[in-house]
Amino acid sequence: MKFEQSFCVVDADLRLLWVGGDWDDFALRNGGAACVANAVLSTPLTAHIHDPATADAVVAMVRLVQELQRPLKFDYRCDSPGEIRRFRMTIQPMRDGRALMVHDLRDAEQVAVPMVAWRFAAQATVNKCSMCCAIEHGTGWHDPMRLDLPHPEEVTFTLCPGCRARVARSMQATRSGTEDPETINQGFGAGFSFS
Ligand SMILES: [Zn+2]
Repeated sequence: MKFEQSFCVVDADLRLLWVGGDWDDFALRNGGAACVANAVLSTPLTAHIHDPATADAVVAMVRLVQELQRPLKFDYRCDSPGEIRRFRMTIQPMRDGRALMVHDLRDAEQVAVPMVAWRFAAQATVNKCSMCCAIEHGTGWHDPMRLDLPHPEEVTFTLCPGCRARVARSMQATRSGTEDPETINQGFGAGFSFS
């Protein structure tokens, strides 16, 4: 697995001051040509988040780090159709109200049969969690790899209840100065684990 890390620095108003690491490479390989460094610098962080639930959660986490001057860690999944990818986001306080957001690829797993290449569509009727990739179907949220259906082609993003709770736990860990032991795999049952 190629080591992969990208980062960005936001100012006190949550505008992107700097992006680096594998940012451009990752953007270009994942259909994000509009998100390369030169296109995003000095834009608001929230301009690059599709849904209000995710934007609110990210803003709340960064604001807490800025306020308390303590780091926050949060694990999330950002899959491509052919790969399950688990990342850790670490938000670190910086001087002058700035914050550093580092995204480390922890684990990547090729899937035997690639999923459909989904895309965001505001009018889509299927919810996908932006932080664990789960799909809302029937009465609950399901890992797309465990859904007995093809991945929907069009999705709209939000946060599933499990990830809302994980955001709250990560923020609580930052408030109390403890390490949050939770990982993104909890809630999906056995089968996925960080290596
Ligand atoms: Zn989720």
